[in-house]
Formats: sequence, C-alpha cells, structure tokens
Amino acid sequence: MQSDDKSGKLSVVGIGPGGMAQMTGRAVEAIREAEYVVGNAFYLDQIAPLLPGKQVVRSSMGREVDRAKACIDLARDHRVVMVSGGDPGIYGMASIVLEVLDRAGETVDYEVVPGVTASCAGASLLGSPLSGDHVTLSLSDLLTPWEEIEHRLDLAFQMGVPVVLYNPKSHGRPENLGRALAIAARHLPPETPVGLVRNAYREGQETATTTLGALAEDDAAVDMRTAVFIGGKETFRMKDGGMLTPRGYGRKYVY
Ligand code: SAH
Repeated sequence: MQSDDKSGKLSVVGIGPGGMAQMTGRAVEAIREAEYVVGNAFYLDQIAPLLPGKQVVRSSMGREVDRAKACIDLARDHRVVMVSGGDPGIYGMASIVLEVLDRAGETVDYEVVPGVTASCAGASLLGSPLSGDHVTLSLSDLLTPWEEIEHRLDLAFQMGVPVVLYNPKSHGRPENLGRALAIAARHLPPETPVGLVRNAYREGQETATTTLGALAEDDAAVDMRTAVFIGGKETFRMKDGGMLTPRGYGRKYVY
C-alpha cells in the first residue's frame, strides 16, 4: 500500500496501449520517481523518453515469477517500477506480484497504477462497440486450461453481449481463434459485426470491421497484437462504418 517513506517501493505500472499520450498522469509520475524500471523491451521502448538516468532492466517474456521475486527484493531499498502493457490488473503483472508478496507475508510497500486496457483503447477506435455490459476473455491457454476457456466462451456468447478477445492467436496456437468463432456461431448469426484493432495507439495501428461469418472463413488479419471485438445481439454498423452497441436509450426516449 502507499506510504510517504522514500526508502523502497514497488510500483506495478500500467502504461496503456501504446504512445505516451495514452498514459495516466500517475503512471508518468511513478516512472519519473523510479530508480529502477523493469519490463519487456517492447514496453520499455514505448516509454523511452522517461528512461534516461534510470537503471533499466530488460526482461523477456516467460519467467514472470522470477521477475516478480527479483523486483520485490530490489524494492526493499529502492524505488522500482515494473511496467505492464495496458492495465496491470488485466492479463498483466499485478496478480503475480501480489501473489508472491502474499504467500511470503512480505511487507514491501507497493502500488498498482491503472492503465488504459486494450478493450477500452480498441473500442474507442471502432466507435462504441462495448457501451455497457460486456465480457473480455483471453484465448491464451498458457495459464488457463483450454477446456475452461471454451466453457467460458460458450457462456459469454450465450449472454448476447459484446465479447472482446485478448491473445486471439499465436504461432503456437493459431487455431484457437477459429475454435472460439465456432463457439460464437452457436449463439450469434453470421452477420454479427466484428471489429479488429491491431496495435491501438502505437506504430502499425490498423482497424477493420468484418462479420462473424467472414472472419470464420479467413482470420489471417488477426495476430497477437490484435484485439477482436465480437458484437452482441444489439450491435450494428453505423452509416460511417463505425461499430455501435446501443445502451438502451432508444427504449426510454424518442430521438
Ligand atoms: N494488460 C494488457 C493485456 C495483455 S494481454 C491490457 O490491459 O491491455 C495481450 C493482448 O492484449 C494482446 O494479445 C492483444 O489481444 C491485446 N492488446 C494489448 N495491447 C494492444 C493494442 N495496443 N492494440 C490491440 N490489442 C492490444
């Protein structure tokens, strides 16, 4: 938790989807205050202007548990920032850091700094595809068994609310997206709008809109840098191409 003690502190900082314009004020400030900044090269490059004068520790994917432990050790006497893409509490680094702290009964000062997550960032580029109730699911089966993911997908699509898929496809498991779309097709018509947002707010940004049926035929445009927005029962395409899920004002007011 927060304290004014300047001795040591571990901040798990969400840096948002990309460019520094999408970071919160506190995220920038926490990095400015840090002696050590730890993170994947991909994320550290996004905050390069904040790094001069810092001890920068570049870590690779995997080995998150070791990284969490090392950061906790360092944070006993130093101000340490661990950067996480988007929001650190959504498929990010906050949970493993807190789990390790909790299991060890550690008393290191810590702080979780929220960030703009990919679903919010991507939605803003598509129009307003989420608007109200929605579900986010990750198709990564590294930490969750695939059978459990399929079960969650089935329940989510049954609700008829928009569903955002994170980690939709990787080299190791390119078929996961196709399987998820087949589950969606049990509950939604093929013309259901789908939005694809790749590299939101960072170099290589691309958006596209398609349909559930068309994406099931050809999902080559989707990779691990893409968030997939599958519309719900009420989602439609705007005249300008945007993707919109009404919140329900039409049931209450005339406009
Ligand atoms: N903690 C992150 C999510 C990490 S999981 C967050 O809150 O955003 C990684 C997945 O997030 C990617 O596979 C992709 O589906 C999605 N993602 C992260 N950043 C993105 C961006 N800038 N544009 C589109 N999708 C993104």
